[in-house]
Amino acid sequence: MTGVEGVDAVVVGAGPAGCAAALGLARGGARVLVLEPHPDRSTRFAGEWLHPTGAAVLARLGVAVRPPDFIRNRGFVLHPGGGEPPIQLPYTWGEAAAAPHHAFVRPLQDALAAQTGVRFATGRRFRGLTAGGCLTDEGPVTAGLVVGADGRSSAVRRAVRPDAPPGVALSYTVGVTLPHVPLPAEGFGHVFLGGPGPALAYRITPDLVRLTMDVPLTRPGPQQVLGYLEGSFTPHLSRELADALRARLRRGGVQWAANSFRRRADFGAGSVALVGDAAGHGHPLAAQGISCALLDAECLAAHACPDTYRRLRMASSRVPERVAAAIHRVLTAEDRATAALRQSLFALWRAAPRERARAMGLLGLQDDRRTDFGRSVAGIAAGALTCATRSPDLLDAALTVGGLVRWLGWLGGPHVGVPPRPSGRRVALMWP
Ligand SMILES: Cc1cc2nc3c(=O)[nH]c(=O)nc-3n(C[C@H](O)[C@H](O)[C@H](O)COP(=O)(O)OP(=O)(O)OC[C@H]3O[C@@H](n4cnc5c(N)ncnc54)[C@H](O)[C@@H]3O)c2cc1C
Repeated sequence: MTGVEGVDAVVVGAGPAGCAAALGLARGGARVLVLEPHPDRSTRFAGEWLHPTGAAVLARLGVAVRPPDFIRNRGFVLHPGGGEPPIQLPYTWGEAAAAPHHAFVRPLQDALAAQTGVRFATGRRFRGLTAGGCLTDEGPVTAGLVVGADGRSSAVRRAVRPDAPPGVALSYTVGVTLPHVPLPAEGFGHVFLGGPGPALAYRITPDLVRLTMDVPLTRPGPQQVLGYLEGSFTPHLSRELADALRARLRRGGVQWAANSFRRRADFGAGSVALVGDAAGHGHPLAAQGISCALLDAECLAAHACPDTYRRLRMASSRVPERVAAAIHRVLTAEDRATAALRQSLFALWRAAPRERARAMGLLGLQDDRRTDFGRSVAGIAAGALTCATRSPDLLDAALTVGGLVRWLGWLGGPHVGVPPRPSGRRVALMWP
C-alpha cells in the first residue's frame, strides 16, 4: 500500500444493510469504500421474506422485486391448531416479496459494483477504528463516516462498545426446502401452531417452498433430532407439507440457525453509524430484519449526519421491536397469562378486520406509532383480563391477572425481547 486511502465513508459489510447504505450515500455524492470479506455469504440460510415496506425501499434503490425471481405475497395465514379455523392476515398497503436470501443481496451487490463513487473491496476486512477512520487488513483508511453493517456479531459495534453484553439466545430455526408442494393458499405465508414452536411455510421460487421450524434451546441431541422434528411438527402441518417434510428429513438437507435478540437501541456513536443487524436484531418469525436494515440504510443516506440518523432510527425502532417480541412470546410461551392473551388476540383478529389491518401495519413496519401499538395492546389485554376474571377458579383467575400485569410490564420495560424467567413456585431445600 502506498500512502493512506481517503474516502467520505467506509461501509463495513455488503449484506442488505451495507449495500443499501453504500448505494444511498454514493448517489448523494459521497466517495464510498465497501469492505466485504465474504461476498458469497449471501448463499447462507437467512432472511427470505421482505415486508412491502422493505420491498418499496428496494424499488427506490432500483431493485425490482418482480416474479419469477421474487414471489409476491399478500400476507399471512395463521393456523392456530386444535381444530380451530385459520385466520387470514392480509397486508393493506402492498405485497411482500419472498426469494432465497441471495436473490435480495446479489442485485444489490451488482448495483454497488456498477455505482460511480463506490469502491467495492471484496476479500477485505475491517480490523478496528482509528481517530479519523478505520483500519483494514490492507492498511488504514481515513473517512468522515464509518458505517457498521457487519451483521449480528458486528466487529464495528464491538469496537465502539467493547463492554456491551452479547445478544441473548432465544431458540433455533430449522429450515428445509420442499420441492413441488402446494401451500394451503398460494400467495401467503402460513404459520402453523401446535408444535414446540411455530412453523412457517412460504414459497421462495415457483417450484420450492421454504419450511422453517422454531425449536427451543432445549432441543434433543443429534441422534434424536430428526425423529423429534418429524414427530412434533408434522401433525400440525397441512397433509402435503407434512408428507414433503417427512421425505425431506429422510433425504437430509436440514439447515440450522441460532436465533438471538439484541435491542435496537444503539445505532453507534461519534462518526460511527450502526445499521441493520449490527444495530440490533430479533427473532426471524417477525421477518423484520431485512426491512429494518433497508430502512436504516435509507435513513442514514438521506440525513448523512450520524446524530440525526441515530435519533430518527431510535424513535422508529421502538414500536416494531416491541411488536416482534410480543408476537414471538404470544405464539411460543405456555404460561396461563400468555394463553389468555393468545385466545384474546385470535378472537379479536377473527372479529375485527380493523384489528388485523392494524396488526399487519405494525408487524410490517408500515406503522411505528405508539398510539396504534398502545390501542392494539389495550384491546388484547382487555379481552384476556375479561376472560380471566370470568373463571370460576379464583386462584386461577388471580394467577392469570398477576401474569398479565407482569406481561405488560415486560412489554413496556427495558427487558422486552428477553425471555422472562419462569415465575413458578420456588422450592426451598432445607437440610435436616
Ligand atoms: C434463519 C433466519 C431467517 C431469517 N428470516 C428473515 C426473514 O424472513 N425476513 C427478514 O427480513 N429477515 C430475516 N432474517 C434476518 C435477516 O437475514 C437479517 O436481518 C439481515 O440479513 C441483516 O442484514 P445485514 O446487512 O444487517 O447483515 P448481514 O446480512 O449479516 O450482512 C453482514 C455482512 O457483513 C460482512 N462482515 C462481517 N464481518 C465483517 C468485517 N469484519 N469486515 C467487513 N465485512 C464484514 C458479512 O460477510 C456479511 O456479508 C432471518 C435470519 C435468519 C438467521
